[in-house]
Amino acid sequence: MSATSALPWAAAAPTAKSSAIALYARWSPELDGKIAAAQQRLREAVMQHDVGLLQSSSLGVEDMVVTDLIHRAGLRIDVATLDTGKLHPETLALLPRIQVRYGLEVQVFQPVAGAVIAFVQREGEDAMRRSIALRKACCGLRKLEPLGRMLAGRSAWITGLRREQSGARAEVAFDADDATPDNPGRRKLSPIADWTWAELWAYVERFDVPTNPLHDQFMPSIGCAPCTRAIAVGEDFRAGRWWWEDSSKECGLHAQS
Ligand code: SF4
Repeated sequence: MSATSALPWAAAAPTAKSSAIALYARWSPELDGKIAAAQQRLREAVMQHDVGLLQSSSLGVEDMVVTDLIHRAGLRIDVATLDTGKLHPETLALLPRIQVRYGLEVQVFQPVAGAVIAFVQREGEDAMRRSIALRKACCGLRKLEPLGRMLAGRSAWITGLRREQSGARAEVAFDADDATPDNPGRRKLSPIADWTWAELWAYVERFDVPTNPLHDQFMPSIGCAPCTRAIAVGEDFRAGRWWWEDSSKECGLHAQS
């Protein structure tokens, strides 16, 4: 377990208020400054990249906060998500909530249906449980290929990555080189890289940010339904992702596993 990523929570019954807010929200003395700094980073990104800029949202709490920060800064930035075909209904239900709240139509990128059908016919619905190679193959089809289409022609993408999330993310930069052979100048921007879990939920509470109700069921990191479980006291943020594997808990979107 990484010292940066253990969750200081104790299992508790959900309250009438969001239990995640009740358990974690703590407004720190630094948070006002961090909000202003994150919005300034977003303004500078719009000036530098204009229509080349995109927020890639997993619809998790970090990305919902980033969408809210963009909205409160008065910026217009395209937002897109990956619908892998394996998401929880609670996750997909955030799309109309975002539209109502922010007047924003999230662009949805899906995998190539024929490729997914062929993979499932060949390897079965539970292929990801049989080996890391098959899990990566599933992530490749359902996430990485559509991510490539999502980012085609974009000069920068915005993420909700935070350094506290895992050892693999401990060095996340606010503005990182993300060059590819097709896109040698691309940047990856993580405006809330320095925020803590407590600050994230304090922001959610203060600004009434829409969030996935699964966060209230001890799922700090939410991915595809077959590959996400609730975590227990003292486990890492990402311990509920691919929990049967001894791996870095990454699917390749942000770090190699
Ligand atoms: Fe497949 Fe699981 Fe990866 Fe989703 S998280 S793409 S279901 S292996």
